[in-house]
Amino acid sequence: MKKRVALWFKNDLRLSDHAALQQALQTGAEIIPVYCLDPAQFLPGKFGLRRTGVFRAAFLLESLKALEADLRNLGSGLVLCLENAETALPKLVKEWNCSAVFTQDEFGTEERKQLERLKEKLAEQGCDIQTSPPEFLLPLDKLPWRIDQVPDVFTAWRKVVEGIGLPENFIPRPASIPSPLIPDANFPNLSEFGLEIPVPDNRSAFPFRAGEAAAMERIRYYGPQTQLLSQYKETRNGLVGTDYSSKLSPWLANGNLSARMVFCEVKRYEREFGANQSTYWLIFELRWRDFFRLMMLKYGPLLFSFHGFRREFSPPAGRDENAFKRWKEGKTGQPFVDAAMRELSATGFMGNRMRQVTASWLVDHMEVDWRLGAAWFEEQLIDYDVASNWGNWAYQAGVGNDPRGKRVFNAQPQADMYDPGKEYQRLWSKG
Ligand SMILES: Cc1cc2nc3c(=O)[nH]c(=O)nc-3n(C[C@H](O)[C@H](O)[C@H](O)COP(=O)(O)OP(=O)(O)OC[C@H]3O[C@@H](n4cnc5c(N)ncnc54)[C@H](O)[C@@H]3O)c2cc1C
Repeated sequence: MKKRVALWFKNDLRLSDHAALQQALQTGAEIIPVYCLDPAQFLPGKFGLRRTGVFRAAFLLESLKALEADLRNLGSGLVLCLENAETALPKLVKEWNCSAVFTQDEFGTEERKQLERLKEKLAEQGCDIQTSPPEFLLPLDKLPWRIDQVPDVFTAWRKVVEGIGLPENFIPRPASIPSPLIPDANFPNLSEFGLEIPVPDNRSAFPFRAGEAAAMERIRYYGPQTQLLSQYKETRNGLVGTDYSSKLSPWLANGNLSARMVFCEVKRYEREFGANQSTYWLIFELRWRDFFRLMMLKYGPLLFSFHGFRREFSPPAGRDENAFKRWKEGKTGQPFVDAAMRELSATGFMGNRMRQVTASWLVDHMEVDWRLGAAWFEEQLIDYDVASNWGNWAYQAGVGNDPRGKRVFNAQPQADMYDPGKEYQRLWSKG
């Protein structure tokens, strides 16, 4: 019988720039692609909020369907397990007779622990887990510091890493993937996880489909087709419509795209249309993503704790359920904040400026524990990313990476500056 290995997909749902796939292919073995969809991720978590809400769940399912179709086109398929990976993978390895599991390494705290437990469990079955490096724009092995010595201040870190060259190419998707016959995946309905199917809202700033092809289409649209990229720095604080920023975050969060793929497309764009402050700034923002991932590696569970890693500062600790409910439902009475909270509930998306304004309102004005806000964003955001979400919230609450300690975004002056004609507030005056 031919040698077989499993390829375990997680938040890397694509076939291009996929180091674990490449390593699996190099073994010459048949490949069993697998994804474990754990029903527990749809249950309420620590603060009584779901860890995955409807928009992200729908986007994830669509990403998986797109991945399965892509895999089929290359002669393979996808085994979808509706179980926790720790239960599913030992069974899968046995059933398909796999000698190794290839997967991407993790930067998230819980995910790293799970991987360690699985390594032990599979070793008992004589099966290895081989990991490829976690996804970063700047590969971890090019970092000039040990993880525990990475600077805590973004600017200090950025000035050094900007001097390190990045490859302008990525691993291409393979032409074919050798696999035995894999039956069609049986995709669950959202209702099986107690979720309703989201109703599309034509006001959404993110009306796009999931999957690598849709992500590449968006890059082409934002880059060569419209050249919106050349104005990104001026428009990125916008509030209405699809075009004020790249909108790449949901695809990046699911791994339909890697940061390196975006970087290469920006470089290609610069060669054709010229580099400017805006093309630089998109990469600058992607560096924040890397930076928060590094902070997660460096500080682990501290990033989820009330004091974050700035033990000297105590943020507000309020647990006023009513205040929190009014914030979530867009009923605070502050029209700018309420508009954004309605947008989030109706679409699963909110632009960066409004994330800062609404987070500051909850923490600085309502004096509610920042972790409740982070947990609400975790449930709602279609682009939820553990490091970017908790890192940005900790930053906003003054317990993370802000060298100034605290940054308050006063809602009314922000509204006057970014929504002077009240277009955004009118658009989201109703949920
Ligand atoms: C309280 C709060 C919570 C957030 N939660 C998340 C989250 O869960 N997932 C997430 O991807 N981003 C999060 N962000 C960062 C940022 O708001 C989004 O990445 C951005 O709005 C996504 O839209 P875009 O793709 O059009 O961004 P663009 O402005 O086009 O930026 C391009 C890419 O750069 C990265 N990026 C931009 N800003 C940031 C940032 N501040 N931190 C980290 N990466 C950044 C993203 O990958 C983004 O797709 C959060 C910000 C705040 C203030």
